[in-house]
Amino acid sequence: MAAPTKEETALITKAYVFAEKAHEGLKRYSGEPFFIHVFATAKKLAEFGMGAKAIAAGLLHDVIEDTKATREEVESEFGEEILSLVDGVTKLGKLKYRGLKRHTESLRKLFVAIAKDIRVLIIKLTDRLHNMQTLQHVPLHKQRRIAEETLEVYAPLAYRLGMRTLNRELEDLAFPYVYPKEYKQVQELLRAQQQSKETQHHLEKVRKSLQKELAKEGMRNVKTESRIKGLYSLYKKLLRKNMDMENIHDISALRVVVPTVADCYKALGVIHGMWRPLPGRIKDYIAFPKPNGYQSIHTTIFTGDGGIVEIQIRSEQMHREAEYGIASHLSYKEGEGNGGKNVITSNLVWIASLLSYRSWFQSAKEDKPTDTSQGATIPPWLTDLAEAHGDTMEPQEFLEGLRADFFEHRIFVFTPKGDVVDLPLNSSPIDFAYAIHSDIGDHVAGAKVNGKLIALDTKLKNGDIVEIQTKNSSHPTTKWLEFAKTEMAKRKIRTALGERGR
Ligand code: MN
Repeated sequence: MAAPTKEETALITKAYVFAEKAHEGLKRYSGEPFFIHVFATAKKLAEFGMGAKAIAAGLLHDVIEDTKATREEVESEFGEEILSLVDGVTKLGKLKYRGLKRHTESLRKLFVAIAKDIRVLIIKLTDRLHNMQTLQHVPLHKQRRIAEETLEVYAPLAYRLGMRTLNRELEDLAFPYVYPKEYKQVQELLRAQQQSKETQHHLEKVRKSLQKELAKEGMRNVKTESRIKGLYSLYKKLLRKNMDMENIHDISALRVVVPTVADCYKALGVIHGMWRPLPGRIKDYIAFPKPNGYQSIHTTIFTGDGGIVEIQIRSEQMHREAEYGIASHLSYKEGEGNGGKNVITSNLVWIASLLSYRSWFQSAKEDKPTDTSQGATIPPWLTDLAEAHGDTMEPQEFLEGLRADFFEHRIFVFTPKGDVVDLPLNSSPIDFAYAIHSDIGDHVAGAKVNGKLIALDTKLKNGDIVEIQTKNSSHPTTKWLEFAKTEMAKRKIRTALGERGR
């Protein structure tokens, strides 16, 4: 890790002093000075290895919304780039999850669209982390909504950005607020399982003998550690496995971190030489990374005394990426030198990964050799993707193209309650109604946009608030087929027409 330059230290110090002064006298629900919150946010960003500007923006992220400081002041003191980061975070703060699960994907996309700069999203996620850590002080009626939003919007975004540690922290903090009964149940199950099998003691024995054997094979700089699965992720798995702990083999696992990719396979050889692996449970996510970029080798072994242990092997770089995800590619890349270009590349890759999720998954499934020769800060599955589009284009162009491609063909509109619905361009209130519920679609009588009655063939625009009026006596007509843009609406209209025709 490079030490911060004088300029970077000066920038962060200036932001620290500015934020502390701006928030002076303001308190959190906990009674603590408000500044503690922005400081915690900035500290986490530093832990992620984010650059000085992002850290400064973390310190300043609440000054426009919550203090007398103005946008103009922030811009004149800290410049345009930091202002735009703070602005982005402030805008994201206004988007709220209101509890309709089927619209959460749209809400996540809208987050991405608004954030524009990946750093905005990361600042917002770390902001949310501290808010979740202090959620017990927030009034009861707000706790549940905030926790649900965390579980449905923020945690999945962290996951897609490859920030697994953050994803897990957010999930486990939200879990008891959203599903209190289930949380207690899983906690109990885990406690019983850990006691009955003395799992920790057992795991420690396996870890020690493995460490010894690896050293004997001449492998140096190997780190081994045990980790226990996050409670929420355990809960989700239990739901798929009949709530039976016996069916889950990765509740606790050993992690082996080695210097290089070659060491990973060597360690696998050593492990399989010591213990017999469970057939069908060896997963090579190095050759075949997971869609979110996760890389490691997983194997599950019989320990010989009736126990079963999952072992995860990865290189140091993979470990860093697994912990910090996309943030690990942004580190020290902002600002001078060729840094600027790398930010663009990271941005591009980030947007590509969130928006072209499917094609990305396809490329991950193909058998692509892992090229470590670049020693790259950007893993091969990402460069593949960038190269596939980037050969004839500058990264900036590619980025613009991708953005245009997606966002110029979609619009985001809202229900009166603030749920986000994303629709293709030129969609009508009919499309909107069917996106909400087919029963609403089938009985549209009229529609209001931003409070005004409008014709049913009106083209909706980004940001419109749409209200559908229904009547039991209203039914689809053939005219509606011309108004509808989405396949779903057209299909449902045809079905309704057919039924009524009979
Ligand atoms: Mn905040």
